[in-house]
Amino acid sequence: MNASLETTLLDIYTSLTQSTLQALEEQQNQSSEIQSLALVIHNLISSFDINVILQWIPGHTNIPGNDKADHLAKQGSSKPQIDKPVSIQSIKQILKNNSREDWLNRWAMGTTGRDMYAEMNRPNPKDNINLLQRKDQSTIFQLRTGHVGLNYHLHRINPTHLPHCRKCSHSCETVQHILLECPGLHKARQELLPPHPSVHNTLYHSYK
Ligand SMILES: [Zn+2]
Repeated sequence: MNASLETTLLDIYTSLTQSTLQALEEQQNQSSEIQSLALVIHNLISSFDINVILQWIPGHTNIPGNDKADHLAKQGSSKPQIDKPVSIQSIKQILKNNSREDWLNRWAMGTTGRDMYAEMNRPNPKDNINLLQRKDQSTIFQLRTGHVGLNYHLHRINPTHLPHCRKCSHSCETVQHILLECPGLHKARQELLPPHPSVHNTLYHSYK
C-alpha cells in the first residue's frame, strides 16, 4: 500500500481484490468483514476530515515506493506513538466521531431492527423523513421498524389478537402487505405511492 497525504485528499493504492472494492461500494448485503473494513475507512475519513480514494492495482506491481511504504508501515506500527498535544476542538471531534462509530458498530452488529438495517445501514443525511412533521416522522419510523398498530405486530405482542388483514383477510397484516400487496388498498396505493412502489421508494427515499 502506498499512501500520499495532501491537505485534504488521501489516495490509497490497494491490492484488495476488485470484488472487495465493489462490495465496499454496494451498501447492502455486505459481509461482516466488508462492514468492518467500511467502518475503518469511515473512521479514517471522519476522524481526519479527509477524502479517501481507493485505487485498485493488480498485485504489487510497479508502484514506486510500495515495498518501502510497506516496510515503513510495519516499522511505525511497532513503535510507541508520539505524545502530541491535541486541541480541545480536536478532542471534541474525536469523541463525537467515537460515539458515532460506537452507534454504527452497534447498529451493524445488533440483532434488532434488521428489516430497517437491510434498507439503511447508516444514517442518511438526505433522508426524506427529515422533511416531515414530527407526527409523520413517527409514523414512518414505526412503519420502518414494523412496530406499528398493524394486526401482525399486535399479534406478536398478544397472541390472542388475530394477525389477519382487516381489508382482505390475508393471514398477515404486515407493513409489506399493507404497503405493497393488499387488494383492499389498491386505489389508495395508486393515488398515494410512487408508480412501482417498493418498501425502499416508499419508506426510505432520499431528497437530492
Ligand atoms: Zn389485505
